[in-house]
Amino acid sequence: MNKGSLIVISGPAGSGKGTVVRLLLQDESYKVSVSTTSRQPRADDIPGVTYNFVTREEFIDMIANGELAEFAEYVGNFYGTPIKSINELMKSGKNVILEIETQGALQIKAKFPEALLIWLSPPDYQTLDTRLRGRGTNTDDDINQRLTAAKRELQFLNYYDFIVINEKGKADEAAENIRDIVRVDKMSTKHRSNFVKDFYNT
Ligand code: 5GP
Repeated sequence: MNKGSLIVISGPAGSGKGTVVRLLLQDESYKVSVSTTSRQPRADDIPGVTYNFVTREEFIDMIANGELAEFAEYVGNFYGTPIKSINELMKSGKNVILEIETQGALQIKAKFPEALLIWLSPPDYQTLDTRLRGRGTNTDDDINQRLTAAKRELQFLNYYDFIVINEKGKADEAAENIRDIVRVDKMSTKHRSNFVKDFYNT
């Protein structure tokens, strides 16, 4: 019952995932897996904290060496979750957050069927567009590719367990909703395979 959950949080660029994940991490029972990427660091990145940055060649070596639990190419760059990171965090018994896009989310669901998939969304497309342009850290070309990627990702929404809307100025509410979902999900039968055995033995 107290085992940590594996939580995948996806959502289009500009959905406020970073802010919501930071709020979740204020709770000690949550940890986030730091991904590896071949993209260039942005002004708001902190190497080793937001990502581990590697070259494209180094990333390809990691794929070849089977070091990644999942990976995807997104807007021209590779992103992936190191198996080592996921295993270490899961051993700690904490709720482990993977903040990843849809292709990776589906790979995680195939490997860890008990994973909880949450889609974090801005209230509407217009808000997404405005947030992304207002960020000031992406080029126009990159923004347009990210908007296209967002439309493509929406096709995979049915694979997700929950949709959480991140309303303007209400990231704390979105984080609270995610905490509620995680709490309820722990009572789900998918996490209680030993229930009957324990019921008779205790
Ligand atoms: P950004 O370049 O804005 O940091 O991230 C672009 C997209 O890559 C976001 O949707 C983000 O969630 C996703 N992403 C970040 N890390 C990973 C990862 O390890 N694996 C996958 N599949 N996607 C990731």
